[in-house]
Amino acid sequence: MAPSLITPPAPMPGQNRTAGRPELVLPPPGTAAAAPPQETAPARRPIAIIESPVVSVQELCLYYGESAALQRITMDFPRQQVTALIGPSGCGKSTLLRCLNRMNDLIDNVRTTGQVLLDDQNILDPALDVIALRRRVGMVFQRPTPFPKSIYENVAYGLRIAGISQRQVLDETVERSLRRAALWEEVKDRLTESALGLSGGQHQRLCIARAIAVDPEIILMDEPCSALDPRSTARIEDLIGELGGEYTIITVTHNMQQAARVSDYTAFLYEGELIEFGETQQVFTAPSKKETEDYITGRFG
Ligand code: ADP
Repeated sequence: MAPSLITPPAPMPGQNRTAGRPELVLPPPGTAAAAPPQETAPARRPIAIIESPVVSVQELCLYYGESAALQRITMDFPRQQVTALIGPSGCGKSTLLRCLNRMNDLIDNVRTTGQVLLDDQNILDPALDVIALRRRVGMVFQRPTPFPKSIYENVAYGLRIAGISQRQVLDETVERSLRRAALWEEVKDRLTESALGLSGGQHQRLCIARAIAVDPEIILMDEPCSALDPRSTARIEDLIGELGGEYTIITVTHNMQQAARVSDYTAFLYEGELIEFGETQQVFTAPSKKETEDYITGRFG
């Protein structure tokens, strides 16, 4: 059996573990076990093969001006699973995430080559309807971004933009989305109050409810917990675990313990390249690449 690089962590305050997820934590630098002997270890692929992926990234390169931020990324994202993108700061995690709903369009002087296929359609095609794409591929940002509107209107926002105005549809969707985001019980008696009065952790769950309300297939999360306290972080992590069976969630995190706690699959990027991508348990306990092992054991990054 491959030696484990990691041992179980203590749960975060208030956290309910999602059954079936690996409970992993990183050892101190320099304590990683040696790789198993070649003759007994089956060959491991550095890039997982995914059956029926929701998104297929092929030879994706992205340049900010002359500078390459992503270099020939090829990977398939598994459907209705949580995938974590990890790697040191500046390795391209957020850039890759933003390619998946064309958020990089908002940045000047960006050039991409390659393909990002969603249901066999290249979403990098300039002719694509980006608004429709973003309904299918929602996003939750690092800093919660509640609008200066009521709690209700924050969640109903995407539906109203889509032209939905029937009160019953709005009411049902707002309640269902808030329930799924584990916020309903806390706000059901104050739906007409300003969302700005909620706490930071509640803001982030509100933003998740807003993303869910338009029934996306994929939810992108860019460091969704990094502005939150440990208790709010634990709640969002639990929520990611719960939503992962229903939606495809792709999350960027610089926190490897969080990646190990919440994700089914992990992709490790370094200097704009995809070094390794596989099941989280495998990536954290038996990485195929030396760079991955060095990163997860804290030798750099
Ligand atoms: P990560 O999310 O892993 O920290 P990023 O995707 O933010 O990495 O950045 C990847 C590289 O692209 C870095 O070198 C960063 O400086 C550069 N970069 C990111 N955003 C921009 C931008 N808007 N303009 C120019 N360079 C950028």
